[in-house]
Amino acid sequence: MQLNESVRCLSGVGEKTAKILQKVEISTIRDLLYYLPRTYKDFSTCRKIRDVSFGETAFFEVRILSQPQVKRPRYRLEITSFQVSDGTGIANVDIFNQFYIKNNIAQGNTIYIYGKLEQKFGKVRISSPELYFKRPKEAFLPIYPLTAGLTQNMLRKFLREALHAIELTEPYSDDFLRKNRLPGLKEALKEVHFPNTPEHAEKARLRIIFDELLVFNRMLELLGEEKRSKNRMRIKSVPIEAFAERLPFELTGAQKRVMQDIVKDFTGEQAMSRLVQGDVGSGKTVIAFFAMDCMRRNGYQSILMAPTELLAQQHYETAVKLFPEDEVVCLTGALTAKKKNELREKIENGSGKIVIGTHALLYGDLVFRNLGLIITDEQHRFGVKQRAALSGGQQDVHTLIMSATPIPRTLSLVLFGHTDISIVDELPPGRKEIKTYLIHGSKYNDMIGFIKNEVSLGRQAYIVCPLIEDSEGMEAKSARQMFDELQECYPGVRMALIHGKLKNAEKQKIMEDFSRGTLQILVSTTVIEVGINVPNATVMAVMNAERFGLAQLHQLRGRVGRGGQQSYCFLVSDHQNAYERLRVLVSSSDGFEIAEKDMQLRGTGDVLGTRQHGAGTLKVANLITDMGLLVRTRDVLAQLKKSGGQEYAAVTAIAREQLGRKLIEIALN
Ligand code: ADP
Ligand code: MG
Repeated sequence: MQLNESVRCLSGVGEKTAKILQKVEISTIRDLLYYLPRTYKDFSTCRKIRDVSFGETAFFEVRILSQPQVKRPRYRLEITSFQVSDGTGIANVDIFNQFYIKNNIAQGNTIYIYGKLEQKFGKVRISSPELYFKRPKEAFLPIYPLTAGLTQNMLRKFLREALHAIELTEPYSDDFLRKNRLPGLKEALKEVHFPNTPEHAEKARLRIIFDELLVFNRMLELLGEEKRSKNRMRIKSVPIEAFAERLPFELTGAQKRVMQDIVKDFTGEQAMSRLVQGDVGSGKTVIAFFAMDCMRRNGYQSILMAPTELLAQQHYETAVKLFPEDEVVCLTGALTAKKKNELREKIENGSGKIVIGTHALLYGDLVFRNLGLIITDEQHRFGVKQRAALSGGQQDVHTLIMSATPIPRTLSLVLFGHTDISIVDELPPGRKEIKTYLIHGSKYNDMIGFIKNEVSLGRQAYIVCPLIEDSEGMEAKSARQMFDELQECYPGVRMALIHGKLKNAEKQKIMEDFSRGTLQILVSTTVIEVGINVPNATVMAVMNAERFGLAQLHQLRGRVGRGGQQSYCFLVSDHQNAYERLRVLVSSSDGFEIAEKDMQLRGTGDVLGTRQHGAGTLKVANLITDMGLLVRTRDVLAQLKKSGGQEYAAVTAIAREQLGRKLIEIALN
């Protein structure tokens, strides 16, 4: 049996079962073997009833004291009960709706049960345990995540067969295994599913994560090698001052530093591949436009990709003001086919030097005359996928990514080890800390009054709701309901409702009106989450704040506090159990700190998007909890590269194969 073979080669796996396995992404034997247990059941020792505390789950060897009794308290509910003893205590066992079980329970027999010991109405009970008439062979039984139609026993059976029949080649030498204190591959796979001791399971898992991260590091390296092409668009040095003259403010020290990094790249040997990280409001946009200015002055085109139409539109307006002498092209989904063709033409003949649009631009069939730079603004989700997409199509252009997503430093060093990073670690002067409050109960009305007052002083407010419309089964205020309520509370106040389902032209009109101050209040869904910049807005109120991630709330809060006025953020929630999380925002305004807390509280997935995208190749490893190993395997890889042995070749081959598969996925997307 080979790793790449379909699970259909297992006995008992036909079309139907294969379909069920597909639901948990198992289609090959490899997928099956790397489908790791969530936890294990400990059958290694039989515990004594006397020694087990109530609430604890354990494995018992017991004698049946009584004939089973069957009760039917309700329609479709049948309870089979009997007493058992192990000499140290007596327990009542209840089994639900297993209609035939009573035929197998005989007074005086010995059975094995696995279940939770409880005390109910003064009696010791074990409700719906697993029953075994013989002691299970394995000391620890694996528990897997399941889906409809899939049982633990099916998976265990398939795995036993696969583990028995699989032919594996160990990629590492004995010496390497010893040095890194790793078990062999076959042993690891056996032990991770059916371990002899918890320590064995742990070691086995470690080996699997080690493999995965070693390959992951090599993949990043390969991507980096691909990206580092020669700089074919060397430009004459561009004085930052010439650009700064166009701005209505002085650049911060941090902005100037990052601009110098960019100039160094543009005038250097290799094409730029740079990530600019800076908290919301740190002023990343002007940095992007500076880079575009460099290109423009030297006759090259550049594109700026925004994640939303709204943001693209806003960038377009800024660009038109900054570069009145040049044609700025804005490509969005809202355009008519005729207009789009016109703009395409301008890009193709090179008259459109500054091109702005949504990310969809990247996948479009645009032809550039002399593209020099691709900028991706506010990229939330990082990783292999996006990097590959960028490097895949346009080999030689400079690339710049702007992001407010705070990634812990160690992690970004690994993820972007082959990309340069500049950090905007300074906010423009005069910013006041945004006062943040948790709003519950009667405070809500105070807040409504407060917002009314702010608006009457000439300032503007955002009210964000998690849903557009009322939705059955969802206990959250919808944007529409909020809008209706506010219209009653605030007669005469000019407000609008904006959400993703509106036509682009409508959204644009509303945003323009809000920007200009024609509208005073904007009730919205999270469509305004990223990038939007209206300095006169001083209030951000988020309804049902418990439904948002901390990083997301921090982004939303970043929409205010952009002008000289004191700004406020209200997190409205009646969910007590969310308060601990939400308080992190009240006490901190540092995006990095917030993201780290968020990851501790919720796990990495949502913050980095790694589960879905970036590190999609990582099945077992977790980039945050396995960070230590991530760094260690990076060092191991460097050593392997130096010694150039069999391991390096093996890891490279696997990395290439996985990368190939990834790129095909991207192409198919
Ligand atoms: P982000 O880093 O979140 O993308 P923006 O680029 O949108 O931030 O900038 C936020 C606001 O700060 C904008 O109104 C911008 O004009 C302003 N700004 C940027 N740099 C400076 C500066 N050096 N001094 C004053 N205001 C600035
Ligand atoms: Mg921005």
